[in-house]
Amino acid sequence: MITATGKSILKGIAIGKVKFLAKKQAEIKETAANPAAEMKRYEDARALATEQLQALYDKAAVEAGEEHAAIFEIHMMMLEDDDYVESITDLINSEGKTAEFAVKTTGENFAEMFASMDDEYMKARSADVRDISSRMVNILTGADTGPADSDEPFIIVAEDLAPSETVQLDKSKLLGFVTRLGSTNSHTAILARNMNIPALIGTEISEDWDGKMAIIDGYKSCIYIEPEEELLKTLDEKRIFDLEQRDMLQQLKGLPNVTLDGTEINVYAIIGNVSDVGMVLDNDAGGIGLFRSEFIYLNSKTFPTEDEQFGIYKKVAEALGGKKVIIRTLDIGADKQADYFNLPKEENPALGYRAIRICLTQRDIFKTQIRAILRAAAFGKVSIMFPMIISVSEVKEAKAILEECRQELIAESKEIGEVEIGIMIETPAAVMLADELAEEVEFFSIGTNDLTQYTLAIDRQNPKLDPFYDSHHPAVLRLIEKTVQAGHRHNCWVGICGELGADTTLTETFLRMGLDELSVNPDGILGLRKVIRELDLGAAKEPEKKTPSEAPAEEAPAPAETPEPEPEKQGKKSRFSLFGKNKNK
Ligand code: PEP
Ligand code: MG
Repeated sequence: MITATGKSILKGIAIGKVKFLAKKQAEIKETAANPAAEMKRYEDARALATEQLQALYDKAAVEAGEEHAAIFEIHMMMLEDDDYVESITDLINSEGKTAEFAVKTTGENFAEMFASMDDEYMKARSADVRDISSRMVNILTGADTGPADSDEPFIIVAEDLAPSETVQLDKSKLLGFVTRLGSTNSHTAILARNMNIPALIGTEISEDWDGKMAIIDGYKSCIYIEPEEELLKTLDEKRIFDLEQRDMLQQLKGLPNVTLDGTEINVYAIIGNVSDVGMVLDNDAGGIGLFRSEFIYLNSKTFPTEDEQFGIYKKVAEALGGKKVIIRTLDIGADKQADYFNLPKEENPALGYRAIRICLTQRDIFKTQIRAILRAAAFGKVSIMFPMIISVSEVKEAKAILEECRQELIAESKEIGEVEIGIMIETPAAVMLADELAEEVEFFSIGTNDLTQYTLAIDRQNPKLDPFYDSHHPAVLRLIEKTVQAGHRHNCWVGICGELGADTTLTETFLRMGLDELSVNPDGILGLRKVIRELDLGAAKEPEKKTPSEAPAEEAPAPAETPEPEPEKQGKKSRFSLFGKNKNK
């Protein structure tokens, strides 16, 4: 038995076979002595690539519909494109290059050519040509093309996983994953928590584990390869116990999230995909507090159209049957990259061209999404939320674009619905401007993942900094409290949609601060409900966790420029009377 330790992302046990995701770029030799042999290798690889694409087409057509499968048809056609084929065969026959070198070079040249075109559709083909070329190169060099379809559930072991790769994994088969790289606050880690699968990062992995039986022990932060019988038995019992505990929480379904003294708070779910909706309903969420819409883009090979997005948002809105669905507009950039955006490489991606900054400068992309959201709002209770806000002018601009979209849709006689407008508070600048920002919107949702990153000046992607990433840092807690107070001064409801919302050691603190809503992963909803229902805020006992206002005098916040009254006391009533205030200016 081999034991390797790492950092645990989610406490839980996963038992199954390892699938090793080889990502090593095989060395590509430039020249070959026998062009005829290279031509044969090329033809064989092309046939195999076509077979793989056909299989992907068939699978996607069944699972997601012909419309979504069409991309694989386009890829098959590209493989046969005369110019593409001619460039490759010329390099092999006339210049004596190897098949893989010829494919790689042709792929890069064509991708660059497409990327420089003005037409958005042609630009997007750049990613497709890269995609088919790397599929061919992988076949020719024997590199893995990703987790093949498997009938058995598996544990993924990989050097690293990008969010775009994680979303493409077959979730019904994924038991857990273990990577060597990655940080606990990265989006890949967040996705693991979102999918409720045990995961380890920072683990010394080995390719030899491929196909072997393994156990991830998320409690002890380790993976056992070929575990001994006794251990397997013990941990399987623990796994079953966890499932039973989860079943017991089911008894809380239908009950309010109310403390013993009668303080109520809403608990919403975080999702990244329409397929998460089942979990949202199963766990009795009050709504969806964060729909990470960028995962629609990461899951796509090209810009999702208005109709595609409308279809997804409508499905979610309808499924929630009148419960609130907060769609966060595209938050792409930094670690969330989709090739077809052709985003530039940046020195400091977390401080770079991302989220609302992309949307306000590439308005076509933004408008497509907003139009889809407005149309979906006719089918449910939809809210729109803008990420990474740092100034009032950004909010005004985003709202003006939203209004422009609304007018266009009305002129086109398209059915639309009213949307509640909110922003994420995830930069210290937004907290400092919270009073002014609250005048513009109806709600704030605090993104504690980024708020912590930007407040503590700690790159959430850097695993070395995990020990410094203190999400209980008094500065972060004070910023949260300031945001709640400012929001309530202007009739804005305030929630948390960052990972901190699920931290039950802070639930009492958050309730005392007056937060109106907490968004957590669907699987965490009933557990959080249990914690809330056992709290008594009326008890004389002060919360154990230090709240910002209890901090020592020398750490006390500087006096605010505007007097900060106590947050509106909502007494023993639900704070949700704040919801639905009309501030659409
Ligand atoms: C956050 O920053 O807290 C947040 C919810 O957004 P994301 O993690 O997607 O950046
Ligand atoms: Mg964020």
